[in-house]
Amino acid sequence: MNTMEIDKTFIADTYKRFPVEFEKGKGSYLYDGDGFKYVDMSAGIAVNTFGLCDDEWTAAVTKQLGLLAHTSNLFYSEPDAMLAKMICEKTGMRRVFFSNSGAEANECAIKTARKWARLRYGDDSHATIVTLRGGFHGRTVTTLTATAQDELHEDFGPFTPGFVYADPDDPEDLKNVVAENNCCAIMFETIQGEGGVHVLSKEYVDVIRSLCEKGSLLMIVDEVQTGNGRTGSLYSYMNYGLNPDIFTTAKGLGGGLPIGATVFGTKTADVLTPGSHGSTFGGNPVVCAGALNILSRLDDEALKYVRETGAYIRSELAEAPGVEEVTGMGLMIGVKTAKPAAEVAAACLENGCAVLTAKDRLRLLPALNIPRKAVEDALDIIKDAIDPEAE
Ligand SMILES: *Cc1c(COP(=O)(O)O)cnc(C)c1O
Repeated sequence: MNTMEIDKTFIADTYKRFPVEFEKGKGSYLYDGDGFKYVDMSAGIAVNTFGLCDDEWTAAVTKQLGLLAHTSNLFYSEPDAMLAKMICEKTGMRRVFFSNSGAEANECAIKTARKWARLRYGDDSHATIVTLRGGFHGRTVTTLTATAQDELHEDFGPFTPGFVYADPDDPEDLKNVVAENNCCAIMFETIQGEGGVHVLSKEYVDVIRSLCEKGSLLMIVDEVQTGNGRTGSLYSYMNYGLNPDIFTTAKGLGGGLPIGATVFGTKTADVLTPGSHGSTFGGNPVVCAGALNILSRLDDEALKYVRETGAYIRSELAEAPGVEEVTGMGLMIGVKTAKPAAEVAAACLENGCAVLTAKDRLRLLPALNIPRKAVEDALDIIKDAIDPEAE
């Protein structure tokens, strides 16, 4: 049996995979077993921040791998301490809890918000958290409950109590939901990634801010996809001038290895105490050594490149035949096409460009340092696949 057959026989059938098996990659290019070359506009779903097999990241990871791969959280370790320090210094936040995925980072944020409310009210009367329809926060039962998308909920009830949903385009709905429930937090993405690269308006985010500023609601920003330079700011809440009480991140922070981080501001920094949360692999030295390399390189120059490259791609696509709308910020780009997005994605892959979809849109999440040549290669293929007139 070949890989595809073995996979189909032995791996749980949860993924609709593209019919391609990549063998290796370098920078923004992937290669299959026949040596066919693909431009990578997916970066492993916003994970490979500086591309595939990036030399500096690989060196940082392999160096730590040769020193010490894992000790557990019963002992101190330099890479995770240094990574937490760097995250706090770059954001003004106070403390970090490390885990292994976005779902876990959000699970920790939810636990922290609940404990914060319990310390404040003495009971669980204010345990409810508001999330936004179309958002995505993970696949565990609780983060799935936080994910207000009916099609993902089917088959998996009963759900964790304590979540209420608001419309991401209707500030009045959000105000009503907050007024009608005893809530402790609003949790949201500034750009709903899985939800179709839907950018929250400044006006809407200002309503979230003012509701939180009244003091009894924590602001939790899910930066799992939008974080780590993706939108052209280090974290996307910075585009809106927010000061979250908690933000979570994962995907691109590790640059290719699994990590989750829940980052606490002043109000929440001391809520978790010994024994209240934990993770066997969280803060793993190898993963943190790689993340430290990634974060240290996300400087002003790198972020400027993200903004410029993203603006260029968006302007090129906005004028292409067959494009109905282009959304997103930086190198998190959604494209509504006249042709079905799945069809366009399949055609792109066939012609040597790996792209993603989200809802009814094409989604582009290239490496943040994608060279201009790779951008041009990708745009040629994508425009061709989108064009309703092209053969
Ligand atoms: C991917 C994603 C998650 C879940 O991350 P996992 O690492 O798959 O658990 C949560 N929130 C957002 C916004 C995401 O994009």
